[in-house]
Amino acid sequence: MVNEHKEEQIPVIKTFYSLGTIIRLRLYGGDSKFAIDEAQKRIFEIDDRMSAFKCNSEISKINNNAGGYAQEISEDTLFVIKKAMQYSELSTGAFDPTVRPLVALWGIGTENASIPEEKKIKETLPLVNYRDIIIDEKNHTVKLNHANQSIDLGSIAKGYAADEVADILHRNGVASAIIDLGGNIYALGYKPDGTKWDIGIQDPLGSRESYIGVANVADKSVVTSGNYERYFLSNGKRFHHILDPRNGYPSENGLISATIISDFSIDGDALTTCIYVMGIEKGMKLLESFEGVESILITEDKEVYTSSSIYSKKYC
Ligand code: AMP
Ligand code: MG
Repeated sequence: MVNEHKEEQIPVIKTFYSLGTIIRLRLYGGDSKFAIDEAQKRIFEIDDRMSAFKCNSEISKINNNAGGYAQEISEDTLFVIKKAMQYSELSTGAFDPTVRPLVALWGIGTENASIPEEKKIKETLPLVNYRDIIIDEKNHTVKLNHANQSIDLGSIAKGYAADEVADILHRNGVASAIIDLGGNIYALGYKPDGTKWDIGIQDPLGSRESYIGVANVADKSVVTSGNYERYFLSNGKRFHHILDPRNGYPSENGLISATIISDFSIDGDALTTCIYVMGIEKGMKLLESFEGVESILITEDKEVYTSSSIYSKKYC
């Protein structure tokens, strides 16, 4: 697939804030101008439905009614909740969308981030249990079994949004694009020059701009969960945003970064969080059950484990 036009194609670009992060869309070809507006509208719609911070979102309504009545929700939100629950099962609870009460307690990424009292963590832990999400498929409703339980789709909604944007772009003849939802990347098609995209894998121990390698991909999602994304320091120790639902603390299982390369970004987004919490051995085992999914896992001892044939080290 070689581009026969010598002149460089000018991309249609949009940068905006949604889903709690900076979104960067770069589109080439097809009806890019129309598609980029549609993509933005769709991302806003997903955020409006799934944000735990917007008081009128479907997720907030479920959370506000916890222990009470079932909330009717859209096909969208139902799909993402069901996917999240599948990953909870697959990871035997390492991934849990009912982690929100713990997330709120730690406040990581907010101005109020601090180490909670152990007593508070112990009191909060029983609220975290994905099995308390009750789905009624027929009536399109979701409810949480107990008061004060709450859902957080922060580890999966961006992946879903990336897939939805990719779908819109395909439908509008866009052949080539980078969908970047705060580092959650979907590389659509090939670059306009016909070669694959180079997606940098951030060095978890370096600066934002430093990469430990490059994933060479076309039509793939590349998602990373890392301890450097959102954290605070206390007495020199890092407290990051991926929590272990089994003990209530930021996950410490030897990994500092987990990257998944997959066809669908919803799977990549959920899997990176799963693997991060499960650790290298159990995580690798889980990955064996997925076809066509590649991984790059980095440990705190700076070892890099990769299943990926499309990954190349950039700096040695
Ligand atoms: P990610 O960056 O995709 O790994 O998602 C991390 C976000 O997901 C956090 O900011 C929390 O909102 C939420 N989260 C934290 N720990 C978990 C967990 N064990 N399972 C599911 N979601 C989590
Ligand atoms: Mg995730």
